[in-house]
Amino acid sequence: MKQTELEFFKKLLENRRVEIVNSIKNSASEISELMQSGAVDEFDMASISTDSNLEQSLSSKQKFELHEIDVALAKIKNGSYGVCEMCEDTINMARLKAKPTASLCIACKEISEKNI
Ligand SMILES: [Zn+2]
Repeated sequence: MKQTELEFFKKLLENRRVEIVNSIKNSASEISELMQSGAVDEFDMASISTDSNLEQSLSSKQKFELHEIDVALAKIKNGSYGVCEMCEDTINMARLKAKPTASLCIACKEISEKNI
């Protein structure tokens, strides 16, 4: 991957990281705003079963995403960013732009999902 591309994803990940840290700090009243903003997709909605554990579900998801971001940032540092963890092929650029924390290429992602 080119240095300019790495810088692009580094910025993207760092910005996302700041966003998550800020939103974790926010109160429950702001969670509904976050949902309306489209930051929470259908999958997240399905995983949030009741209002009572809404905040908890969201914050654990955010903590998981923070972890994914940290892993991706570490990969940018050590030069393995954008490389599939299973087949060691280069991950498609469009896929990384859609999901900068992706650690598998599309083909391996499909295989890993079938195995679950
Ligand atoms: Zn792969």
